[in-house]
Amino acid sequence: MMPYFANHTLFGLPFLHVEHVLIGVGIAVVIILPAMGYFIFRLRRNKTKELKQEVQGSKHEAKTEKAKADIILSAIEDGVVVIGADKVIQIFNRGAANITGWATNEAEGLEYHSVFKMVNAKGVAYTDNQDPFLKVFQSKMVYRDNQLILVSKSARQLPVYLSVSPLVDNSGDVTAVVGIFRDVTQERAQEQQRAEFISTASHEMRTPVAAIEGYLALALNDKVSTVDSKARGFLEKAHASTQHLGKLFQDLLTSAKAEDGRLVNHPQVVEIGAYLEQLTESLRFAAEKKGLLMEYLVGTGEQGIGTQNATSNKVVRPLYYVSVDPDRLREVITNLFDNAVKYTEAGKVSIGLTGDDKIVQFYIKDTGPGIPPEDVPHLFQKFYRVDNSATRSIGGTGLGLFICRKIVEISEGRIWVESEVSKGSTFYINLPRLSAEKAAELQKQQQGNQSPLGA
Ligand code: ADP
Repeated sequence: MMPYFANHTLFGLPFLHVEHVLIGVGIAVVIILPAMGYFIFRLRRNKTKELKQEVQGSKHEAKTEKAKADIILSAIEDGVVVIGADKVIQIFNRGAANITGWATNEAEGLEYHSVFKMVNAKGVAYTDNQDPFLKVFQSKMVYRDNQLILVSKSARQLPVYLSVSPLVDNSGDVTAVVGIFRDVTQERAQEQQRAEFISTASHEMRTPVAAIEGYLALALNDKVSTVDSKARGFLEKAHASTQHLGKLFQDLLTSAKAEDGRLVNHPQVVEIGAYLEQLTESLRFAAEKKGLLMEYLVGTGEQGIGTQNATSNKVVRPLYYVSVDPDRLREVITNLFDNAVKYTEAGKVSIGLTGDDKIVQFYIKDTGPGIPPEDVPHLFQKFYRVDNSATRSIGGTGLGLFICRKIVEISEGRIWVESEVSKGSTFYINLPRLSAEKAAELQKQQQGNQSPLGA
């Protein structure tokens, strides 16, 4: 028997009647659509399940990452603290808790000053200008403090070494700072002993060396002694070496004092513009003797730096007052200037001054051999000398810049260098600027002070 629809065709295909179509549609409605719905439902359910699993997975991953970070942080013996831009402690590891006496859950969420009570060797609280965390928030640069004393929760004073680094986002803003610190009580005690030894030894040795130097000078003096030219040559060499030895002992003594806080420092109000101008004039001779040009530049910071003749005040400049020991500052500038002249073969040495309402900045710039970038971070450390052909042969103690840094730090300032090999170096010093009113007020307090404002 033929199938029911086989005798009807349309373009060669079996032709279906309306009732056949209706039956087909009926079957589709009854069987296929529910089946499709079911499959879609399954598909969506699976998708949701997958999504849920994915979210759970990433949550789990985040949890695992946090757990890992927690394990690492608590395994670190050093104190680790993360402080947000709102100055609130976000992370305070077990090491930090052990050193400070504050429990992690107590410290986290507190404004950091409640936990970090910072004082200097004399027990005087750090000002905002000295605060290492604030310095990093402002400068966006790593800052290390190895003179800090932390006052623990139980009011114990602990010498710590602290290094603070900024966390900077894509737009260049500091979103948080990370501080790493360690208790250096033992190291500090050993350092103290070493410094005392060096201080006593150099003090004792300075006296005989000064005597030898004096006698050699007498031997070289035509009016008191007669020596032949060969002997004169030997004596001149001996005299130069003794002078070098004398300088080494003097530097050792100063650096030992700077390290244990015994460096004599009598800050007073100084108007840096006039001070620098005078000092530049007294230093000029040494540069010109070596055939170097010497210039003094002054600018206002806002307007940029303009050249000023050191003897005639042609540029109207603001008065830059700072509180500093003028004798100590002279040591710093003279040392930087001596280095500039010593290491520069030809060209120019410039001393410059600029500033804004908060800061007075001055610099000593030369056209010498420059300092390789890998040496720059170590330059202000004790005994560090750059080991390259341009400077190796030139005598020195490697203590000058260390002493400069110590003196600048006592005055709440900052010293750093920017340098390019074969082009030259610029040593910068920033000191906090005093307003004219504050300067006058401080001067009134400093009774018996002979140096008038602006002098
Ligand atoms: P030194 O007595 O050796 O000059 P410093 O502490 O003053 O000791 O300087 C440390 C080192 O830094 C020097 O040995 C020298 O290599 C380098 N240095 C300092 N100033 C300059 C400069 N203006 N140009 C090039 N190198 C410099």
